[in-house]
Amino acid sequence: MENKAWAQEMLEQDPEYFNRLSKLQTPEFLWIGCSDSRVPANEITGTSPGEIFVHRNIANLVIHTDVNLLSVLDYAVNHLKVNHVIVCGHYGCGGVKAAMTNHDFNHLLNMWLRNIKDVYRLYETELLEISDEEARADKLVELNVKEQVMKLAKTSIIQRAWKYGKRPVLHGWVYGLKDGIIKSIYDINPGSTTDLNQIYQYDDL
Ligand SMILES: [Zn+2]
Repeated sequence: MENKAWAQEMLEQDPEYFNRLSKLQTPEFLWIGCSDSRVPANEITGTSPGEIFVHRNIANLVIHTDVNLLSVLDYAVNHLKVNHVIVCGHYGCGGVKAAMTNHDFNHLLNMWLRNIKDVYRLYETELLEISDEEARADKLVELNVKEQVMKLAKTSIIQRAWKYGKRPVLHGWVYGLKDGIIKSIYDINPGSTTDLNQIYQYDDL
């Protein structure tokens, strides 16, 4: 483990480093990213410990019955008071590719991946116009990110924060494994419900 060497190096650069960080965290961002080992939030955004609150799962999904995700969202929005929530997918996502096959991955993974199949079904016409398989998967990565951002906007956690705090901004990004570049796909500003079907909008928060 490189842990001791790292801790020593950090102390040499800044003797107060751990002292300061251990007292509080005031991150500006909540990051909802893919579990893929090649997409670490801090490294690819050039940020340090203390700057991003992180939740990761396979294919960066926002699922309304996921207690883990909702707890992270609630804590980040209502206690840490983050100003930005980022859903970051990545091209070449194994979860997205798996969902595009008809392969049985057994019960648990099938259940998880079905959420991506639902996104596929929603945009099937658009996706089938793309003949190249890799390009089609990349398009689904982008559409999946957009859908997850919209799912965030559908939660009462976000809608209440918009109403009373005028934050956070919701961002949908896709990271390129091949070039390290993050592409912005889709944003929703606080209170903007243009893309949100009215049935999802709470009127008595
Ligand atoms: Zn992935």
